[in-house]
Amino acid sequence: MISYESALSRILSRVPKPVIQSVPLHRALGQILATPIWATQALPPFKKSFMDGYALRSKDVRGAPVVLNVVGRITAGVKSHFQISRNETVKIMTGAPVPDTADAVQKVEKTRVVEDGIEILESVAPAQHVASVGSEVEKGQLVLEKGRRIGPREVSILACFGVAEVKIYKPPEVAIISTGDEIVDIRKTPTFGQTRNSNAHMLWAQCQSAGVKADVEPIVMDDPEKIREAIRCVRNMDLVLLSGGVSMGECDFVHRVLVEEGVEILFHKVAIKPGKPVMVGLDGEKMIFGLPGNPVSAFVTFVLFVKPALQQWCGACSESFQKIKVCLEKTIKHKAGRVFLMPGKVRKTGTKITGCPISTKGSADMVGFARANALLFIPSDRERLPEGSIVDAVLLDEFQGFV
Ligand code: AMP
Ligand code: MG
Repeated sequence: MISYESALSRILSRVPKPVIQSVPLHRALGQILATPIWATQALPPFKKSFMDGYALRSKDVRGAPVVLNVVGRITAGVKSHFQISRNETVKIMTGAPVPDTADAVQKVEKTRVVEDGIEILESVAPAQHVASVGSEVEKGQLVLEKGRRIGPREVSILACFGVAEVKIYKPPEVAIISTGDEIVDIRKTPTFGQTRNSNAHMLWAQCQSAGVKADVEPIVMDDPEKIREAIRCVRNMDLVLLSGGVSMGECDFVHRVLVEEGVEILFHKVAIKPGKPVMVGLDGEKMIFGLPGNPVSAFVTFVLFVKPALQQWCGACSESFQKIKVCLEKTIKHKAGRVFLMPGKVRKTGTKITGCPISTKGSADMVGFARANALLFIPSDRERLPEGSIVDAVLLDEFQGFV
């Protein structure tokens, strides 16, 4: 049985090199940018009004209230020929180009229409409500680094610079295969002894959140020939996630079938709890993960091993998972020998981040596990970790944070 660290480094040393692919902007969401993006134009590209109001010379309204003569009207998107001289103004809309001769805009709320023009009720500072050329971004400036995950803000930036086709790292194509005689489709009502196939959907959701599309394949019985057939069926996929059938029971055939199929086994069994029977193999460049069937074990082994592999595959080398240091709120006792991934609640108390284990009913208890917001790493070499010890934790609630 190998350690968690060696298992992870064996996986990461064999993940294929990221491949660059060009995709339409909408398909780039959730993917990793494979090239830096430089500003092809300054932002704003012209001197722009931030407000609906009046473009003017700030020195003319120093003694406001002052009445100015309105010499024109400038709307957004139109190149205007209006210029202003002393005590003149032009009406201007938000986003419209400000005349060269104006140095500020007073917003419409601070003005009043009078018989002989517009009364500016308050003075304005030079440059007020005006964005000068390049004040946000200079032409040629780096606006997105290579390796960045593309979220809604990145989509906005790419769109803004006209990047309709985006170079991303091609995510692997993933197949999910659940094994087990007792496993049934989630639309079915399980008969005695049967269990709905929750793993396939959890694994699908995990992949989806990592920006990777995955196909859920039909459930496979605990029969070596059926398992062989199912693995051969997904030959063209880059990565296969099997769940169930990797332990030492009489009906656990996954390891045996993979060996018979000529798959190079990187490891089978890791010194972790839960998830000990996890295995990983390589069939050429295709990676095959055999995850334990218990839902929490499958989840934990995904987080520990599959997720970092997917991230490296997709070019997000620096991302890894969010490991933080937390201070234990309670003394923990456990059997030494395996790293214990303990479900826990991590919280911020003042400036201190603390972690408290939560009790669940074991590795089948996803409902109990869902109350945790972190996995606490309890090292394998200590039987007792006193309150106040510092341990690593991986945050699980990507959407909620931990406060
Ligand atoms: P195994 O790893 O095949 O020994 O399965 C361990 C436990 O996980 C058993 O109680 C299975 O019923 C359960 N299990 C296996 N596969 C799944 C699955 N796809 N969805 C939910 N539970 C499963
Ligand atoms: Mg089984």
